[in-house]
Amino acid sequence: MSGEEHTSSYYAATRTDQTTYPPLHGEEETEVCIVGGGFTGVACALTLAERGHRVTLLEQHRISWGASGRNGGQLIHGLGGAEQLGRFLSEDKIWALHYRGNDIIKGRIEKYQINCDLKAGFIEVAFKQSQMDGLVEDYEEHREWDLDEHLRLVGRDELKSLLGTDAYIGGMINDLDGHLHPLNLCAGEARAATGLGASIHEQTEVIDIVHGSKVRVVTQQGAVIADKVLLAGNAYHHLEPKKLSGLVFPAGSFIIATEPLSEDVTDRINPADLAVCDLNNVLDYYRLSADKRMLFGGRCNYSGRVPTSIEDSMVPRMLQIYPELEGKKIDYAWGGNIGIVINRVPCMGRISDNIFYSIGYSGHGVAPTHVAAEVITNAMEGDAEVLQAYEKVSHFRIPFGQWFGNQIVALGMLYYRMLDKL
Ligand SMILES: Cc1cc2nc3c(=O)[nH]c(=O)nc-3n(C[C@H](O)[C@H](O)[C@H](O)COP(=O)(O)OP(=O)(O)OC[C@H]3O[C@@H](n4cnc5c(N)ncnc54)[C@H](O)[C@@H]3O)c2cc1C
Repeated sequence: MSGEEHTSSYYAATRTDQTTYPPLHGEEETEVCIVGGGFTGVACALTLAERGHRVTLLEQHRISWGASGRNGGQLIHGLGGAEQLGRFLSEDKIWALHYRGNDIIKGRIEKYQINCDLKAGFIEVAFKQSQMDGLVEDYEEHREWDLDEHLRLVGRDELKSLLGTDAYIGGMINDLDGHLHPLNLCAGEARAATGLGASIHEQTEVIDIVHGSKVRVVTQQGAVIADKVLLAGNAYHHLEPKKLSGLVFPAGSFIIATEPLSEDVTDRINPADLAVCDLNNVLDYYRLSADKRMLFGGRCNYSGRVPTSIEDSMVPRMLQIYPELEGKKIDYAWGGNIGIVINRVPCMGRISDNIFYSIGYSGHGVAPTHVAAEVITNAMEGDAEVLQAYEKVSHFRIPFGQWFGNQIVALGMLYYRMLDKL
């Protein structure tokens, strides 16, 4: 059985690295086997390779085929579940992790010369006062950690000149966050990992995991024998159902890319080239691409179904904010699966001493996957302090989750959508 190629997105069309990796035939021995070639898997492969470990990564389709090659490209600091983790980790440890993902990514872009259109500048925007109050609170917290020089609260008037819309009452700019071309980043990290000796096999689906002091990772046409394994399939994950089913649910998020916009339009709607994300529970996010298209994304549904026309369901959302984009040609429309966890804390832990997993970033994963990769690597090397904190967070597991999970998530989102409207 051969896997799929990349979905037809703006990112796949502007991919700079066309490298492909051969499927696995036969058996391979390694120290760490990683299942899943998105940011979690690839970032972990690179971290391990940088530290001198032997790694084999198996991806059922192409590197970055899943959410990592399809997302909004918004580089946003933070960790899911900082509050819950606060019960098990000191505040300074948590704050050290908050920007760790950004630092790892920026460091790698520079070190490995990864051309992925990195731009500084992200703004969170508020529709209502309660959301604005949350931003002020966040600003104050950053001040306690001497990071406030990177933030700026903006009111309605300035926001209008920054984003060319009066949809919002205010916002907060963060110059440590920003945006990038995620597929090119992931491909660049994969290339860097193989440059350091990691072995990657694409079009290689893992169909079983046989536990033991040496784990046997079974594929259609072979197997990898490893001392340790990381499961990094996120919303596409289906292995180890006894331990992991009912924890993470796939929810569709969808993006449209317009034709390139003229300079006078981009000067009106986003002269500072910021990544934008609103604060609704069911949120929209958007930014300009390097070639000045509007990339507008949002969550269309939580039922696990793809809308009949992504374009028809996303264009009205974009026009609500930017009526002047009416009539602009939509060159690309695509979607991908986010791995939703009920309490929004990524599920990270161990199934046994030598089988690790990290899945479920609930739609905020570009930076957090890189933190997770480091946390897992540290734990594999014997420093499991942060991983243990994640393991202590209790997760809600929906019984018979594989059948009822998405219906329950869809109901939950209906509730949150109602809250957004209040
Ligand atoms: C449309 C969209 C927009 C988003 N926007 C943003 C954003 O702007 N900013 C942000 O921070 N986050 C965003 N996210 C979330 C972010 O993309 C994800 O959290 C992150 O990419 C997760 O990475 P991952 O490696 O864990 O999972 P994925 O990238 O989904 O990778 C998992 C991989 O595992 C493979 N796999 C699964 N099972 C097997 C198996 N049995 N054998 C072999 N391979 C297997 C899959 O094929 C897949 O390639 C968005 C997500 C989507 C879908």
